[in-house]
Amino acid sequence: MDNVTVFCADQPSVRALVQTCEDFSKASGAKVNCGKSETLLLWTGTSSVRQKIGLWSLRDLTIEGKTLVLRRYFQSCSTWPKHGHLWLRSAGPITRAVFNFIWGSKMDRVKRSVMYKAPCKGGKGVPDIPNLLRSFFVCNCIRQMIMGKEKDSVGSSMSRFFLLPLWRSLGWDKWDSSYPYNWNTPWFYLDVTKFVREHQLEEVKPDLWKPKTIHKLIRAKDAMESIPGLPADTVKVVWGNVSSDSLSNKHKDMSWMAIRGGLPLRTFMHARNLCRYRHCPRCIIYEETSLHTFWDCQFAQVLLDALEHELKDCVPRNLLTHHAVLYGLFQGTHTEGAIQEAWRLINCFKDVLWYFTNCLILRRERMTIQDCHRLVHSLFRDYNIRDSLEEEED
Ligand SMILES: [Zn+2]
Repeated sequence: MDNVTVFCADQPSVRALVQTCEDFSKASGAKVNCGKSETLLLWTGTSSVRQKIGLWSLRDLTIEGKTLVLRRYFQSCSTWPKHGHLWLRSAGPITRAVFNFIWGSKMDRVKRSVMYKAPCKGGKGVPDIPNLLRSFFVCNCIRQMIMGKEKDSVGSSMSRFFLLPLWRSLGWDKWDSSYPYNWNTPWFYLDVTKFVREHQLEEVKPDLWKPKTIHKLIRAKDAMESIPGLPADTVKVVWGNVSSDSLSNKHKDMSWMAIRGGLPLRTFMHARNLCRYRHCPRCIIYEETSLHTFWDCQFAQVLLDALEHELKDCVPRNLLTHHAVLYGLFQGTHTEGAIQEAWRLINCFKDVLWYFTNCLILRRERMTIQDCHRLVHSLFRDYNIRDSLEEEED
């Protein structure tokens, strides 16, 4: 017997294969020619992905930082396009590993469909693994189908054999009864048709079928995340403010989560049976929501009063609203520089309030207004240091 190829799913099946070969050679007297046989490792499974991501989870990274790590890692995965359909089944476990890494637990705090959106649309730009893997396989099929047409290559014939109705509907192939066609298409080839229809990619020209381009096209169709009570134009400005480069990554995360509801506040924890009370730990009367924590709470108002002197150059205290604190929408006419300063200061203020809440709940430590004021100052000074360092680099 010559030219036998055996696919093994895991280590036990390799062991079973070796055993079968030995039994066969004992019974028949024929032997496997080890000199001519070779093994090929096609796929290392999801464990390698988990291991790579796991190394980064030891560091104290923000969501912004983690997303950057993930994007870089998945861009550099060169084996994915080659064994596209083998990876498709791993989309679920890899996605779970990705979100475990982002949230540090099995519980998602914000919907995944929102996380996939670009920051300017209210998301975090997390790589959409299922669609990324599918687009790798689809693009590979299409490239082989188009590029290999003249050469009559194996890849082209395979994709034609399984996907003829799709190619015909896209106008890339004719029905030729002299070529064989399979009516019983495997699931991963059926998924190609589903992918094209699902994302309405029928109009895309053949030369644009590259994973990156297709991914961009899919993401471009994402709708902007709305914010209750704000018109669409203003929402766009809010997401711009939240993902502004003038903020540090930590502050970007905090202001985004304060709007999206990802902060582990008591109302959030109570809804998930993780906390007994729903009330603000500082004033005990009202429910702890992000609006209460950063604006309505008595403590927040007192701290804002204390910051009046710092704020007065950019924004008068009496014009400050909850829109300014949560969304960075400052009333009246201001210069761009003043708005940036005020937004940074407000984010330092939110950071300190959040730190205060955590100290109170976790360590039962109560900070004074003076402590908080000093902390806001030191955080704001970090921004000034960052600016001067950047200027030096330029
Ligand atoms: Zn309160």
